[in-house]
Amino acid sequence: MRLFVRKKYTAIKVQKKDLPSGLWVKCQDCNEIAYKHEIDALQGVCPKCGFHFQILPQERLAQMVETGSFQEWDADLVSADPLEFNGQVSYVAKLAENRRKGPLKEAVLCGQGRMGPFTVALGIMDFNFLGGSMGSVVGEKITRLFERATRQRLGIIVVCATGGARMYEGLFSLMQMAKTSAAVAAHAQAALPFISVLTHPSMAGVMASFATLGDVIIAEPKALIGFAGPRVIKETTREDIPKGFQRSEFVLKHGLIDMIVPRKDLTSTLIRLLGYMLPLVEEKANIQHPTPNSTSPNQG
Ligand SMILES: [Zn+2]
Repeated sequence: MRLFVRKKYTAIKVQKKDLPSGLWVKCQDCNEIAYKHEIDALQGVCPKCGFHFQILPQERLAQMVETGSFQEWDADLVSADPLEFNGQVSYVAKLAENRRKGPLKEAVLCGQGRMGPFTVALGIMDFNFLGGSMGSVVGEKITRLFERATRQRLGIIVVCATGGARMYEGLFSLMQMAKTSAAVAAHAQAALPFISVLTHPSMAGVMASFATLGDVIIAEPKALIGFAGPRVIKETTREDIPKGFQRSEFVLKHGLIDMIVPRKDLTSTLIRLLGYMLPLVEEKANIQHPTPNSTSPNQG
């Protein structure tokens, strides 16, 4: 008797039907596959686990400001290549490739728009553009955003999505940490509110500068928030990191942020917070600039 016999069937090659690309999305948090339309209907949130996907600045803008009210600032600033960085692909080529992806010339969209009854200055970072990294142009646009808002006496909201400072610009990108922080300080000295919104992921040099200097710091659920990433920390300390480490829920518990707000409630929460802070701004502005000896026309 033969121990091994040839199987009496043959494999039939079945041609897979081509699925339209981008119709299904795999969630990076729960690994489930979800229908793209369903995710879009939930403003970019996983229907299975509630993970908040990265969304484009234009989509974010549409969720936040009144239609037609947005005026972009400093749209034409473009990065130079101060270090003449040439890795496998040159920095100049990387920039060109990223500019082709969408309407933005850099990794942050800045401007002013209407949110409820308020005109606010807005900065929205684009993780899709070189990981939302802060080079000299992102730093300059954020700095100008704060300086302009200070002059115009506007509250500021910055939505972060970033891997940190941009390595292609070395020290020039690290300098932006100090520059943006100084602009935030000047805005705060003028008694104007700044709300920082941290989305997945918000890391490194941006977190070590303006992103954590908000009067109120909000995070979206399950966002990765920190300085060095969990893998780097684990390799450096050679210790196991706790479950949920550096996620919004973890950093809220440890006091780094003030609140976690789901995307569907973000705009209404921001308007409510601005409502708490902006009337105070005017009161404080009046206290800061008393005119006891001035003679008004009425006093003659
Ligand atoms: Zn999920």
